[in-house]
Amino acid sequence: MKVASVLIPLPVPEAFDYEVPGPIEVVRGDQVAVPLGPRLLRGVVTEVRETTGSNRRLKAIEAALDDPPLPDRTVDFIEWAARWTLSAPGEMAQTALKGLRNPAPRPERRVRRVEGRSPARSTPAREAVLAALGDRSTPGPQLARAAGVSSGVIKGLIDEGVLEVVEIAAVAAFDPPRPDHARADLNPDQAAAATAIADGAATKAFSPFLLDGVTGSGKTEAYLEAVARLLAAEPDAQILILLPEIALTQALIERIAARFGATPAEWHSGVAPPARRKVWEAVIAGRCNLVVGARSALFLPFANLRLVVVDEEHDASFKQEDGLVYHGRDLAVARARIEGATVVLASATPSLETLWNAHQGRYGWLKLKARHGAAVLPDIALIDLRQTPPERDQWLSAPLREAMARTLERREQVLLFLNRRGYAPVVLCRACGHRLTAPDTDSWLVEHRYTGRLVCHLTGFSMPRPKACPHCGAEDSLVPVGPGVERVEEEAKSLFPHARTAVFSSDTAPDGRSARALIEAMAAGEIDILVATQAAAKGHNFPGLTLVGVVDADLGLRGGDLRAAERTFQLLTQATGRAGRADRPGRALLQTWTPEHPVLQALAAGDRDAFVEAEMAERELASLPPFGRLAALILSSENPDALEKTARALAEAIPNAERLEVYGPADAPLALVRGRRRKRLLVRADRDVDLQGFLRAWLARVKVPGSVRLSVDVDPYSF
Ligand code: ADP
Repeated sequence: MKVASVLIPLPVPEAFDYEVPGPIEVVRGDQVAVPLGPRLLRGVVTEVRETTGSNRRLKAIEAALDDPPLPDRTVDFIEWAARWTLSAPGEMAQTALKGLRNPAPRPERRVRRVEGRSPARSTPAREAVLAALGDRSTPGPQLARAAGVSSGVIKGLIDEGVLEVVEIAAVAAFDPPRPDHARADLNPDQAAAATAIADGAATKAFSPFLLDGVTGSGKTEAYLEAVARLLAAEPDAQILILLPEIALTQALIERIAARFGATPAEWHSGVAPPARRKVWEAVIAGRCNLVVGARSALFLPFANLRLVVVDEEHDASFKQEDGLVYHGRDLAVARARIEGATVVLASATPSLETLWNAHQGRYGWLKLKARHGAAVLPDIALIDLRQTPPERDQWLSAPLREAMARTLERREQVLLFLNRRGYAPVVLCRACGHRLTAPDTDSWLVEHRYTGRLVCHLTGFSMPRPKACPHCGAEDSLVPVGPGVERVEEEAKSLFPHARTAVFSSDTAPDGRSARALIEAMAAGEIDILVATQAAAKGHNFPGLTLVGVVDADLGLRGGDLRAAERTFQLLTQATGRAGRADRPGRALLQTWTPEHPVLQALAAGDRDAFVEAEMAERELASLPPFGRLAALILSSENPDALEKTARALAEAIPNAERLEVYGPADAPLALVRGRRRKRLLVRADRDVDLQGFLRAWLARVKVPGSVRLSVDVDPYSF
């Protein structure tokens, strides 16, 4: 009997076996419909084997589906990614099939010549049709237009049996990019980087690179040139460019369209299902060279993936934390390895992991040393708030206000950066001291004045701002505590009533289109003061912007997170890097209560190496990433007893292992979310320990009850 292993969308660690009934032929990668209880599910075959004897308990594959089989390497990647992240391979496979949610488009009806048949009676109109058609197949109306005849002429030829109608499944093709369409003259650093990347791709072996250059040094221009060279050498090559955020995709797509004279495909959660189907089918058919997307684009079934670019590779948004837990950058490197492709990790502030790999010689290290053209990096200075504290309930110090005034006088633009959405991060009752939280959740409600609501940024819960304290009932006692971007905008408006202000955050720019509108308004000089969260900190180009004020440079440094320093350094480098990109020099002022902090000192000195060296030394001392590895197990449940028991069972079942420690169980950083309590166990291991093997052995020893949810986070981003 023939048996197939099939990945189906269930949270189980293995493929399911099904009998392959006689008339059905399947191979690895084929899509099939299989029964599960009363349902039929779409699955992917990973293996087909002959078994002796019969296994009556096996159900049979219902049907082989018409959709194209996944390429072998795509299946390899899915299996590898599932093993690496300890996720269910069937659920990983579903991400690769996301383009198929929409039904297949109706096949296209075309006419073509029936071989050996000529019209009994020839007319000029008929001759024109046959000449226009040649030996191709063409939709009837298009043919009529091309030949300049009425549709009756074509119908007559069909009735006579000279032409026939055929149905062709329409796979859209994307216009091929033209490598020479609008080439830029590269500077020597850029040219060297582009050559190295293109040479790497030409080897057809896995070639990883770090493309390291300050903001505005022309990294994008350099990797696009590598794309051009690759396409000139291999017109079938497929290239994937990953961005951390959807808001950034539109700008890059336009830039690529201008560079290559062809619009690339776009892939992220904001793309509508019919368009997704089109991209998916074109990608698997090899009829699409360039895809720009978010991390989920990694799971597209590329026919011939030759180059993957991860732009802003350090960005935390590449880590997906709900549903499947994975790091897009790490999986991009893995995908390139499996495909024998080249991967480029680009950043002005690479992650310590990537820098370490470059230091070790595992990644080629391509450096762009200066900003392109005349632009220089902004001059960064610290404002010591201990010397010039703002007034009560104000956030902009006198030196920052003065700098803003001078900038506005020169008709230049100001960006105030504060990585906090809304008006105030906390709402407090003056009468009883109660801080408002979302129901059954540990996180504070954030006041939003634009909408008049209190919002939980963790769960999305929101409510109108109440008149009375929900705890003690006191009237008019609720006060906002601390600043968010809306509150800073209010202050800027009252200081500069004639300035045009705007807020840029995920609230005011929730989607690509609204983000684009704000970016364009800023680029066109229609905004004088932009108050922004990290949503505007990266990637954009504002020629008139010459002053960046960081409202609270200490914000990310509080709290004991592993990456607090790294993330703050990256974020503030990106934010301050927005200033002075064109011909006017820029300035950045960082407000801080701790100007002696090494991260801020390194920023002010523009000394990334010093920061990296100090931070690496600390990580090495503690054997933390990149010198060791981490994994987190998060347990959550509405039932505190079950949670407690499971946590204890896990703690008692820890397998013996060397050079590895387990910490906890302890309350997770957010110990209560939507009524679910959360506990965490943390594993630290030396780099050469088989961490996944340890986790698998461990989890196999414990039965987790249905009332408890267990999620595994390998290489957690924060802890
Ligand atoms: P990065 O990706 O490093 O931030 P970009 O590639 O976006 O840098 O380049 C910054 C700016 O400089 C862009 O406006 C880009 O068009 C321009 N630029 C970069 N390299 C060149 C070049 N070789 N010739 C002309 N303009 C360039």
